[in-house]
Amino acid sequence: MDELLNSLVETGLRGGTPTRNEALAVLRTSDDDLLDVVAAAGKVRRRWFGRRVKLNYLVNLKSGLCPEDCSYCSQRLGSQADILKYTWLKPEEAADAAAAGVRGGAKRVCVVASGRGPTDGDVARVSRTIEAIKERTGGVEVCACLGLLSDGQAERLRAAGADAYNHNLNTAEATYGDICTTHTYDDRVATVKEARTAGLSPCSGLIAGMGESDEDLVDVVFSLRELDVDSVPVNFLLPFEGTPLADQWNLTPQRVLRILAMVRFVCPDVEVRLAAGREVHLRSLQPLALHMVNSIFLGDYLTSEGQAGKADLEMIADAGFEVEDAETTTMPAHRNGAGGAAGGAATSATTVAQEAAAVPDAPVPESAVPESAVAGRPERPQARVAVRRRGAGTELPPNA
Ligand code: SF4
Repeated sequence: MDELLNSLVETGLRGGTPTRNEALAVLRTSDDDLLDVVAAAGKVRRRWFGRRVKLNYLVNLKSGLCPEDCSYCSQRLGSQADILKYTWLKPEEAADAAAAGVRGGAKRVCVVASGRGPTDGDVARVSRTIEAIKERTGGVEVCACLGLLSDGQAERLRAAGADAYNHNLNTAEATYGDICTTHTYDDRVATVKEARTAGLSPCSGLIAGMGESDEDLVDVVFSLRELDVDSVPVNFLLPFEGTPLADQWNLTPQRVLRILAMVRFVCPDVEVRLAAGREVHLRSLQPLALHMVNSIFLGDYLTSEGQAGKADLEMIADAGFEVEDAETTTMPAHRNGAGGAAGGAATSATTVAQEAAAVPDAPVPESAVPESAVAGRPERPQARVAVRRRGAGTELPPNA
């Protein structure tokens, strides 16, 4: 174990990429080794991001009624989840919600809309929204997340002031067809590339807990590393009643921490954001995750409620971290300016691949404990997903 962790830390401190086998071994460490794994990932996190935590704030511009069939999503075609459903917020409404997030400490606002992808009219509408948010908040970072992009749309969003674009890969290429049939993994990769080409900081991540294998998780994280994205949101499945994955309650807090450690080791100098599922799956272990991720969402998620924004801030302070201020550049200096608007990567995908190839695959330690090691535990009471009933699209104030 010491040999594995020493190798991962040494690689992470120089911004390199571990081998695939090393990444797999992290997922298969035992609970006895968990704090050592967290501490090792914490060294890499502090090397590139100190003790800063970037806060991001979600504004769901348009909720539900999507024609796509992503099985994990409460907004999907045929979803029976009892979520808020509404059409486009007006620019002023979105700016109100965004301003609440910024007052709460957020330095990035993520404007999101359900759907396969925007029409040109939608892009014009979101452009007006971005302008309204920038005007109201004094220029907060804005990330748009509108689905698959068509020709010229990324450029128009960039011209309107968007800093970043999010489009998650979600899971491994080999199993993408198991979670969605209405678009492909390649469609998603193409949109991430279009965003980067337009000068938007590429943000793309994953969802864990959908029944995927360790190998699938490692595959998607290595794909994100090769795509050289600036930020990686790590979501943990919220199994909404009324969706096909409603019974997929298969994450433990320990498993979540191991996944976050693996992502940090594979993407050492990238913004790793702990996203949806934080409260539900980590529960009382949330603060440990801050030692590995450098970014979280403040308050609520798109269709579910998070803990109170005030509790997020208290957790950060109690754990000895600090909220990153607007003047501080999130990305390490070597990644700034080479890619998207919020700072791209100097480490090219080729370099990463070469580094990976240069390090022989480490054997998975004998002591590695398979995923099924958690099977013998008593079943915990099933947590419930709290559907969002406040903030954007409601009369109630947002949670920030
Ligand atoms: S395209 Fe987006 S909103 Fe639509 S079902 Fe898939 S994840 Fe949900």
